[in-house]
Amino acid sequence: MDITTLSADTGWAAGLTPLDALARRSNLLGADRSIANYGGGNTSSKVTEVDHTGREVQVLWVKGSGSDLATIAANGFTGLRLDEIVPLVQRGAMTDEEMVEYLARCQLAPGMPRASIETLLHAFVPAAHVDHTHPDTIGAIVGANDGERVAQECFGADAVWIPYIRPGFALSKLVAEAVAAAPDTKLVLLAKHGLVTWGDTPESCYASTLEAVRRAGDFAEQRGSARPGARANGPKSSARDVLLARVLPALRGAVSVDGRRVAQVDVSPAVVSFVSTDGAEELSQLGAACPDHLVHTKRRPLWVDFDPRADDAETLKRRLVESVAGFQERERAYFEEHAAPEDRLLDPSPRVVLIQGLGMVTLGRTLKAARLARDLYHRAIAVMNGATSLGGFVSLTDAESYAVEYWPLELYKLSLSPPPREFEGAVVLVTGGAGGIGSAVARTLSELGACIVVTDIDTEHANAVAESLGDAVALRLDVTDETSVAEAYDKAALAFGGVDVVVSNAGIATSAPIEDTTLELWERNHAVLTRGYFLVAREAARLLREQGRGGSIVFVGSKNGLAAGKGASAYSSAKAAELHLARCLAEELGPDGIRVNVVNPDAVLEGSRIWDSSWREERARGYGIDPDELEAHYRARTTLKVNVVPADVAEAVVFLASAVRSGKSTGNVINVDGGVAGAYPR
Ligand code: ZN
Repeated sequence: MDITTLSADTGWAAGLTPLDALARRSNLLGADRSIANYGGGNTSSKVTEVDHTGREVQVLWVKGSGSDLATIAANGFTGLRLDEIVPLVQRGAMTDEEMVEYLARCQLAPGMPRASIETLLHAFVPAAHVDHTHPDTIGAIVGANDGERVAQECFGADAVWIPYIRPGFALSKLVAEAVAAAPDTKLVLLAKHGLVTWGDTPESCYASTLEAVRRAGDFAEQRGSARPGARANGPKSSARDVLLARVLPALRGAVSVDGRRVAQVDVSPAVVSFVSTDGAEELSQLGAACPDHLVHTKRRPLWVDFDPRADDAETLKRRLVESVAGFQERERAYFEEHAAPEDRLLDPSPRVVLIQGLGMVTLGRTLKAARLARDLYHRAIAVMNGATSLGGFVSLTDAESYAVEYWPLELYKLSLSPPPREFEGAVVLVTGGAGGIGSAVARTLSELGACIVVTDIDTEHANAVAESLGDAVALRLDVTDETSVAEAYDKAALAFGGVDVVVSNAGIATSAPIEDTTLELWERNHAVLTRGYFLVAREAARLLREQGRGGSIVFVGSKNGLAAGKGASAYSSAKAAELHLARCLAEELGPDGIRVNVVNPDAVLEGSRIWDSSWREERARGYGIDPDELEAHYRARTTLKVNVVPADVAEAVVFLASAVRSGKSTGNVINVDGGVAGAYPR
């Protein structure tokens, strides 16, 4: 066994501890996703360490299961006592459970992450530093028909070829034997899977991975045949966006059979070129390009035909919904055929949808998952194109795919994700999202896992709110403008696939005695508060019904909708109209599972844009007090003697937005006003 402690020699590893050098090498590999895709691949170093007893031990540092090479730090690796692992190569067989149990006992210290599925492969290859990756250019060779011959042409005696076998003890042992039998070999090619390289130093190991990737790329360039050309030009980007916005909610509804999904649209050149190419359907249906993709992309994408000259949005929508149903049926049959008694069906819906000539839609339970499926499918396209140019792509069989997709060790990786949050997969559109209540609602729902569409006429502040949230976009939305409202829903669909919760909150407020209430003032209040709430709710109803999975509309009303106040008749009458609109819609939309409820706040001054306007002076004048005395004035007049803040309103909105908390409530009003007897509903 060739164990080398890292010396402080030249190169990027100079001065780093062995473990830091391993983390650094991993990050370097992960920085190029065409070499190490998200979550995929693993790295190791064999070094001498001093254990807790003060004795020197030989340690295998290997990536922990479920971490990502691009971001892994020293604490993402597990240290294992190498002397206890190496003798395993003498065994004839070892089950996964035995392997996991055994390795857990070899850990240098308790509490380290579970060692990678491919740990034994790293242990059995004698070199001090080992990389295992799934690079695109290597994928093209190991995924090519007759790949072994292609590999021989590319690498000659520098590579050994291992036929496909699922990772685990048997694969590790095969690799160990092959490397031992060919001591001059420089790398191992795992059929339909990936690459193993090594070196005596971290630098030389990293260099050997890059060299293998480069050689495979150069070979494909010289030997590869050009892919057949694109068959049709897709629609222009504006027409494409309109078309996608029309069909996405129905698609999202169709895939959300066991929980909501977030969608990501990808119309990048690589994707559009792929879905516009002759033979792409057949190619895409051959199967997964790498076992690592399977739990995120499933074994096949859903392919949907589309001809922009003959098909309209309605046709495409119908085809998508029918195709999803067909896909789910095939997935259930695939499960039935291969399932062990203890297996349970994970998710029958597609993660990747390819629309001919148009682009790709990926779906996940979270935005992160939808983006991961998207990123991995880019790798799949590169591998399939590469393999095709080398004579044809060959994928895992269904049985091989099932064995990985439902493999407990692969599912363990998924189990490391944090538990789902209440609004995971939900999309929430908030109007007036730049203001005090709107931004508090957006923040609270975002913390509960929702994707947020922050809309406002003030795009600058809406952008700032969205940026502070994470999974959020900001849109300009003028609630009084029919076109602006419809466009906002289209953009929400393009951003996340649809909408589940609409919080209608955008508002203004004015105050004036009736004789001084101009027609303009009257109509402005009614334009924002009545027409605005109507337009936002009407488009919500259209989208939610297209999606077919129910939904929740929450109006942020006002105490004034119930309690008659002096000197604010334009505002208060518009707020009363909102309240009744909500009750009418509750009746009308209820049969489709769409709930409509109202939160009635009062005197929420903190962070409010309304209260920054002349409304504060107007109200103070109305009460005959100084504007600075308003908070105390409002507090004093409530039953509970409290001021209401945006977070209080957000709590009530969350309650009504959540089907778990209030799924059997509609047409309701929740007062968040500190108690105002005149506004108690009756
Ligand atoms: Zn692998």
